[in-house]
This record gives sequence, C-alpha cells and structure tokens, in this order.
Amino acid sequence: MNAPGNLKTYQLYIDGRWVTPEAGETFPTYNPYNRQPWALIAQAGPSDVAAAVAAARRCFETTWRHVSGLERGRLLLRLAELLEENAERFGRLESTDNGKVIRETRSQMPFSARIYRFYAGFADKIFGQVIPLDQRNVFDYASYEPLGVVGLITAWNSPMALLANKLPAALAAGNCVVVKPSEHASVTTLEFASLVEQAGFPPGVFNVVTGDGRTGAALVEGGGIDKISFTGSGHTGRKIAAAAGRNLVPVIMELGGKSPNMVFADADLDKAVVGALAGIFAATGQTCIAGSRLLVQRPVYREMVERLAARAGQIRLGNPLDMATEMGTAANQPQFDMILGFIAAAKADGASLVAGGEAAREGDLADGLFVKPTIFADVRNDMRIAQEEVFGPVLSIIPFDEEEEAVAIGNDTRYGLASGIWTRDLNRALRVSRAIRSGMVWVNTYRASAAQTPFGGVKESGYGRERGEAGLYEFVRTKNVMIDFSDEARDPFAVRV
Ligand code: NAD
Repeated sequence: MNAPGNLKTYQLYIDGRWVTPEAGETFPTYNPYNRQPWALIAQAGPSDVAAAVAAARRCFETTWRHVSGLERGRLLLRLAELLEENAERFGRLESTDNGKVIRETRSQMPFSARIYRFYAGFADKIFGQVIPLDQRNVFDYASYEPLGVVGLITAWNSPMALLANKLPAALAAGNCVVVKPSEHASVTTLEFASLVEQAGFPPGVFNVVTGDGRTGAALVEGGGIDKISFTGSGHTGRKIAAAAGRNLVPVIMELGGKSPNMVFADADLDKAVVGALAGIFAATGQTCIAGSRLLVQRPVYREMVERLAARAGQIRLGNPLDMATEMGTAANQPQFDMILGFIAAAKADGASLVAGGEAAREGDLADGLFVKPTIFADVRNDMRIAQEEVFGPVLSIIPFDEEEEAVAIGNDTRYGLASGIWTRDLNRALRVSRAIRSGMVWVNTYRASAAQTPFGGVKESGYGRERGEAGLYEFVRTKNVMIDFSDEARDPFAVRV
C-alpha cells in the first residue's frame, strides 16, 4: 500500500493558480488494477466553489467576453495541439485512474483534440441573424451572446472525452467555466489545467474544483452559474435538475442508457458480431452508449449467440496500461460490486449464462476489479438485466421474430440514448431509424463517433445536445434587437398588428 505521504497531491485550480481547499481536506484516488491509492485529490467545500465561480465571473466580465472569436479559436487550436502532444501521458493517467484500457483512453485524446478543433472553427463564426419584418423602417437582428459562467460536471468513465463534449463549445461561444470532475477519476482534468494555461488562456477562464457529490451540489446550488452541463447517472441528474430548477438555472443532461443493438437476419453477420462486441466490451461496458441489449432475429439467433460467446471467452483481460489488453477493470469498488449484483439477479431471474458471469481473479488479475465478459442469452426484456443500466461488461441477448417486435422491445425501456440496426435492407434501416426512440442511431456500425454529429438522448437518457453545431448553441443566448429608424413619432395608442 502506498503511504499517503508519498502520493502526489492535486490542489484546486482557481483563477490560474493551484490553491489548497479552505478546509485542507484531501482524499485518495485508487488505481482499480491494483486497488492502491495513487494520488491525493483536494475536497473542495462551498467556499472554494464560490471562489472558483467568482474568478470565472470576474474573468468573463473583465477579459474573456472582450476577446475576439478569432483569438478564442486560436487558443482552442493551440489547446488541441497540446492535447495531442500529450496523448500518451494523458492516456496512461486516465487508464491508471479508471482502469479503462489504454487502447481506448490513448485514442480518446486525438479524438478529443478533433472536437476542440471543430469548435475552434466556430469561434469566429457565431453570426446571429438579420430578421426581415413586416413593418417599414424597422431593422431587426438577433445576436448570440455567451451565457457567462457555466458549470461542467462529469462522470469517471472517460473524463477527457466527456470534457471535450462540453468545454470547447462553451469556450468557443465565449463562456468561462468551472469544471467538477468525478471524485473517482479527477487527475486528467487537473493535469489538463496546465495545458489550458500553456495554451495561453487568460486566468479564470478555466477552473477546476474537485471533490465528491457535495462539491457538485455546491456548484449547482451556490448561485452565480448561468447553465449546468452534466454527464452522469439519472439519480444524480434528478437531484441537479431539481436544485438548478430552484434558481431557474438551465441544464443539459447527458445520462445513462440501455441501448438496443438490433441484428436482422439479412445482416452481414461478421460485421454484426464485431459491432455487438465493440458495443459492449470495448469499454468494459462502462460507456453510456453501450449496446447492452442485443436483439437478434430468430433465424440467426443461435449462430449469433454461439459466435459471441466464443469470442467473449477469448477477450484478453489484463493491465489496462498494456496495449495488448482488450478489456480492463471495473472503475471502482462500488461499480464492481454493482456489476456482480446485476449478474446474480440475471441468474436468479432465469437468463441463460453463456459466457463469463463472475469476477476474474486468475494470475495477474488477482488484485484488480476484473469482471469476465459476460453474456446472457434468452433474456426477456422485462428482466432487471434488460431494464437497468449495468454499466459493466454484461450483454443481454433477446430473440425476436418480426421487425415490429424488435422496435417494440427496443423502445420498451425508460432510456433513449442510442440504438444500432444491422441489416442490408435500406428501407428497413430507414423505417426502424424513424420508429426507434433514441437520440442516436447507428446503421451497420456501433459506437462510432464524430466531432460534427450531435450527441445526446431522449426520455431518461437526458436532454440537450453535445458536439456538432447543436452543441455550440447550448452555450449561447439569443438577444433580439429591434430598431425603428423612421423619422415620424407614431400615435402611442395606434392599434398594432
Ligand atoms: P454520478 O451521477 O454518480 O456522478 C457524476 C458526477 O456528478 C460526479 O462528478 C459526481 O461527483 C457528481 N455529483 C454527485 N452528486 C451530485 C450532486 N448532488 N450535485 C451535483 N453533482 C453531483 O455518475 P457516475 O457514476 O460518475 O457516471 C456513470 C453514469 O454516467 C452512468 O449512468 C452513465 O450512463 C452516465 N454517462 C452518461 C454519458 C452521456 O453522455 N450520456 C457519458 C458517460 C457516462
């Protein structure tokens, strides 16, 4: 066990400086591969959060709102370069913190850099609109203004990628931010503060307050915030929406999912097998868009189950920092316990276990929070395993006969984040894409991402959009300006139409 005295201590990043939290409290962050603490993180209290919000507000009023779009874009481009240059280091840090394989965390850095570049291009192209009116001698325009100070609260599963879904859009639109990363994986967000500084952003544009849910609550409830963008569980999302609602602060909610990945009998099954595996096991299932319900049409059902079970049994578990490792650990102890609890419930409910189904403790896996890639077949959609978000490497396979049945099962969930359709029939692909209630649909691919495309859910998966053009306009408010340039003084009581 590492003695706490030997661990690097991360402070809060406020107004361009590293500061100790007022109460002086820290907590350890653990490496889920060996369950050892590896860094100490500051626990920010309400006064620290208030200081960060005040710094952001000051910077917004005195500096950032006067910086041109061209300059904001230039700074974002520089930040993208720095993130790419540091991809290896950030990938290693993130894998150490949350147990995700380096294959994924390393590649998320250039992908994130791509999103910074996308929004850098927008920074000097937020134009507004001239609106032609019916009246003569009246000129009207609507302009987009930054909101001011926004709070960004993120989950532990992909801290840098989740931040990239929010931060560049917020900065390109001219806002200052206070970021609250997850207490389970704060390190990369803190290290990122140094890159923001190096890129040349003015102090106060980007602030980081760390800590558990109390810190997040202080950010939401403390006042001085113009909008909250949240990624996390529905449980926390409800609390945030309620607290923000009391101050009428708008929120963006990026919550969980129980996404249906639907394989029709006419699909290219080689591709569908890859898509099903990537959809659930590539990120150890710890992704909101996990294709955790695989719906398979009966003529190919047995073949799919057998092929998936065979491949799942060969997935290489191991040190997340090893490029050969295909699946890492659960990110933390509560998560690990929860995944095993869901597996036990599925067994009790009568689902057929065809792969995994337990923790992996062999050899060098002994100290880590490993769960074997798990597949249940013959799952009924009303079972807990098909209704609850497991957020782990557990796939439920459900058979269906007709297209309508697939759509009905797909939609029979309180979530609506993503869905997948595997078919060679274009008409079917379009029909099902329309009928399925989710924010994102993939056809003959799964978990593919692009900076340019809008990301977000419906129903209990949340509201608001990230990435794409839609993501930018979440961070502006529209102001309408109407100018009467006629020379006549009108009758004040004239009937206006
Ligand atoms: P979580 O809700 O436990 O925590 C998320 C963040 O909220 C953390 O930073 C946490 O400290 C903070 N928080 C906790 N209580 C708070 C409060 N009362 N007020 C303000 N902030 C508070 O979620 P998690 O376990 O970190 O993440 C897993 C969840 O995130 C899953 O449900 C997953 O589907 C979801 N997720 C969604 C997306 C998406 O884009 N839709 C992406 C990744 C993860």
